[in-house]
Order: sequence, then structure tokens, then C-alpha cells
Amino acid sequence: MQEFSVTTKTYEEIMAMIDAVDVVAYERTRNHLSGSVSRLSPYITRGIVTLPAIRDRIMQRSSRAAARKFIQELAWREYFQRVWWQQGEGIFSDLRPGVRRWQHQALPTGIRTGTTGIVVVDEAIAQLYRTGYVHNHARMWIAGLATNVAHAHWLPVSRWFYYHLIDGDIASNTLSFQWVAGTLTGKPYDFNQSIINACSPVTQTDTFLDIQREQLLEIVTPPSLQATEPLTLPVTLPQADPISDLGGQTVRLFHPFHLDPTWRADTKSCDVLLIDPDHFTQFPVSPLVMNYIVTQARTVLPNLLVHVGAATTLPGFERATVHSRAHPTISDLPITFDPVPLLFPEVQGSFRSFSAFWRACEPYIG
Ligand SMILES: Cc1cc2nc3c(=O)[nH]c(=O)nc-3n(C[C@H](O)[C@H](O)[C@H](O)COP(=O)(O)OP(=O)(O)OC[C@H]3O[C@@H](n4cnc5c(N)ncnc54)[C@H](O)[C@@H]3O)c2cc1C
Repeated sequence: MQEFSVTTKTYEEIMAMIDAVDVVAYERTRNHLSGSVSRLSPYITRGIVTLPAIRDRIMQRSSRAAARKFIQELAWREYFQRVWWQQGEGIFSDLRPGVRRWQHQALPTGIRTGTTGIVVVDEAIAQLYRTGYVHNHARMWIAGLATNVAHAHWLPVSRWFYYHLIDGDIASNTLSFQWVAGTLTGKPYDFNQSIINACSPVTQTDTFLDIQREQLLEIVTPPSLQATEPLTLPVTLPQADPISDLGGQTVRLFHPFHLDPTWRADTKSCDVLLIDPDHFTQFPVSPLVMNYIVTQARTVLPNLLVHVGAATTLPGFERATVHSRAHPTISDLPITFDPVPLLFPEVQGSFRSFSAFWRACEPYIG
């Protein structure tokens, strides 16, 4: 299987990645594991580049028709962010309760060890541990095996997956798991071995997925997915930088989901990366991901100081002028927030489905 190795990138390298997106090949091949996907997710999740900035750059060299599919995928991200803002903690419970009956609230061991017996899925899990990145379809199959074949509630599995994803985004991950499990739309995602074979370079036969896709929820959970275990997600915090009294200064407060070096770049400021231990207790990430966050942040913001603690424990916090970009994880801080630039600011309100949201967005593609 093609390896997606995600590395720390400079801002210029990220712009070059956007310029390299081939929207025509994307639309044609994106569902295949070897397809022409952008691999921009780590940089989008970390807020280094905003969705409208990507859209505008793409539209400089693509027609509306050619770029439509790629922009629609960007819109999925915006939709999930909006649902998080609107539902808050509600996204951590079934959004359509009663659609599914779960057999347990634990992690299937065969998922953690990558020994499901489905070769492509097992390779994808190994790749997740090595690189922190997995193709969208492999994500759907991992989530689908855990929730729709092993009948685990999606929440613990989504927490395990998020822990290892370098592009781990709380809304995209949680709500994608709900989508796969059926609690977002009312219909669980079904698939079978022939779909996996068609979308991957590996052909496997005689597996427990040699079924009609509609039968997925009815098959007996195979032995490889029967054992379960509790979650163990230890966090290693990074080294903090010494920070002197910030009183009287302007602070650009960055956090793991906001590392945009162009934001308020003309303001003379002290740049701080907030690593709040309470946040990581609630949403643990692996050492690979933590290391990526800090090294990526230092790469795009060379003068950054890393603060490990609550924002309010920054020396002189109450006497400093602190700015950040709005995000649900820091919305209770007594600081000034700038709004996150939206792909479709014209579209307001809440939408019951992505399709309804997309219908409202389409007139504004560009
Ligand atoms: C179970 C599961 C968990 C997921 N967890 C995450 C996550 O934690 N973080 C994350 O960014 N994406 C997540 N996704 C969505 C999607 O798989 C990734 O965004 C995509 O695979 C990233 O690769 P790419 O940058 O090459 O995407 P491309 O296909 O090139 O798409 C470009 C960008 O559009 C956005 N995008 C594309 N597809 C989706 C989608 N289905 N949902 C939301 N945004 C999308 C992403 O920002 C992506 O970088 C998850 C999907 C599933 C099924």
C-alpha cells in the first residue's frame, strides 16, 4: 500500500502542496487508496492554513466545475466544525439516539493490534502507528469494522483513533465516527470485501467480508474482533519554555488547532503556544502527535514560546492583551477572539444533513 508519510512542513512547502493539488485527478481517483488526494489534513487541522485560503488559491487556476468536488470535501470539514459549535458536548453522544444497539463500550483488541484479518485494514492500522495518517476510505473501514461488525460504541474507538492521528480533529473525527456508525444520518455505513478490493491495491478473498454489503450489520462478529479491552491513552507533555512577565505586552496565543503564521502578522507580539494539560487529559494524543504539534508549530512560528499549563497561568496574563482565534476548546478564556475565516460565510443557520448544508453552499463556490 502507498505510504503517506506526513512530515513537518514550512509554510512555503504547504503552499506548494496546495498548488500541487490536481482537482481533476482528485475527483477521478480520490476513493482509491493510491488516489490523488491532497494530504493537506495535518496543516488544515492545525489551523496553519484556512479553508477559504485554500479555496481561493485553488480557484486561481481551476474552473468552478473542476474544483467542485475538492471544495465539497473542504465543506465537509466546515460542516463538522459548525455542528460542533452548535451542539457542543452533544457531539460526544449519539446524535440520533436509538438508531443502534451497542454491545459494549470498549475497544476491540483486534483493531488496536491491527489483526482484524482484513489485510488492507491491518496495514492501515500499522500505517496509523508509523505515520499518524490514514486514507479516508481506510478510516471508514477501520471505524466500520469496530462499530458495525464488532458492535463497539463509536466513542471509545474514536478516542483511540484520534489519539494516533496527526490530523486529529475533534469534530471531524467524532462526527465521522457517528457517520460510519449511523448515528449522524440514521444509516450505518456498509461495505464488503469487494468494495475494499476495488479501492485498494490488494485483492483478498475468503474473508468474513465476502458478503452483500447490506448484510454487514447481521454477520456474526468474527473471532478476530470479539476480544475487547479498556482504553489506555497516556500523554507525554512537551518541555515548556521559560516565559517572563507578559504584562503590558500583546500576545498572539496559538494552540494545537490554530498555528496560522499569517494571522495578525503585522502586530508586534509575543507568540505563545498553549499546551493545556487539562485539554490533553480530555482529548489525549500520542507522543508522535504531541511531538508533531510542537515541531510543526516551531517550524511555522520560529519565535514561539511553548507554555505548558492553563492560559491563565501565563506570567502577567491578566495584564497582557491576549488575542487568539475562536475555537471550542478555548472559548471560555477571558481574551479577545478573532473569528475563524469560513469557506461559506454567506450560509448561516443549522442544517440537519451535510447534503442540505452543501445545497445552501453551492451557489457560493466561487
Ligand atoms: C472515521 C474517520 C475519522 C476521521 N478523522 C478525521 C480527523 O480527525 N481529522 C480530519 O481532518 N479528518 C478526518 N477524517 C476525514 C478524512 O478522512 C480526512 O480529512 C482525509 O482523509 C485527509 O486526507 P487528505 O488531506 O488527503 O484529504 P483530501 O481528500 O485531499 O481532502 C482535502 C481536505 O478536505 C477535508 N476533508 C476531506 N474529506 C473530509 C471528510 N470526510 N470529513 C471532514 N473533512 C474532510 C480535510 O480537511 C482534507 O484535508 C475522518 C474520516 C473518517 C471516516
